[in-house]
Amino acid sequence: MAIEFRAVSKRYPDGTTAVDDFSVLMPAHRTTVLVGSSGSGKTTLLRMINRLIEPSGGAITIDDEPIAERDPVKLRRGIGYVLQNAGLLPHFSVVDNIATVPVLNGVPKAQARRRALELMDVVGLERGFAKRYPSQLSGGQQQRVGVARALAVDPNILLMDEPFGAVDPIVRRELQTEIIRLQRELEKTIVFVTHDIDEAFLLGDQVVILEKGARIAQIGTPDEIIENPASDFVADFIGAERGTRALHAKQTSHGTVLVDAVGRTQGVLVEDSP
Ligand code: ADP
Ligand code: MG
Repeated sequence: MAIEFRAVSKRYPDGTTAVDDFSVLMPAHRTTVLVGSSGSGKTTLLRMINRLIEPSGGAITIDDEPIAERDPVKLRRGIGYVLQNAGLLPHFSVVDNIATVPVLNGVPKAQARRRALELMDVVGLERGFAKRYPSQLSGGQQQRVGVARALAVDPNILLMDEPFGAVDPIVRRELQTEIIRLQRELEKTIVFVTHDIDEAFLLGDQVVILEKGARIAQIGTPDEIIENPASDFVADFIGAERGTRALHAKQTSHGTVLVDAVGRTQGVLVEDSP
């Protein structure tokens, strides 16, 4: 499902203009990454998609239908939402955390739990963790539960707000690789928010670099932005000395490979079967 922002703005009651005239098309089955410093309006943009925040102006459409006309509760059933701290219920086991929303939506408990176990496989969590509580999991494992829970309603759209912000760099890389693999299998429309440009280039089919007020500094594929930064702001933001450190995923005729900032292949993520 394609998401489109048409001249959207958001002014909070205290007068803060968090989003100023934002227009972007987020293509179906692709990952759009919104990247910018803290306070640039990323979370506000994301939460307008599932109507946790209402725009002050403009319109957001999903497959050309304005979401303002949709029932918010029904709208949210088709949208998975993953938060930074995973947002798990502490007194619910892993399997029940994943099954919560389907059960609330009327799916029989046994069926929701069976599906939850399958989703643990999907996100790479051993089923042995099913009966544990969130506090008995590592940060990375909690995030996997968060992703499984977001997938439990079988959404067409997945919103992720700095989901890997709180985990250490090695686990973070594992989770990023997992998202790339998942996306190749599931082909959701993903909107991913981060302040980390390397993460943006790694995960994004389309990357939107934001300044304050969610003003678009540049929008394009990682390659387009790396090869041709639109302004000094963008050049600064992507870092003059990124050198060979930053990797991003690239589709080739053989599969998905990781390439560095100057285009050298650094590894293979997913090999296509011949
Ligand atoms: P980001 O996620 O990029 O850090 P946010 O969307 O959270 O940015 O915030 C954008 C701007 O809006 C910031 O200046 C922030 O202080 C302000 N803001 C966010 N939420 C509110 C609110 N509920 N009331 C007033 N201002 C807010
Ligand atoms: Mg935020």
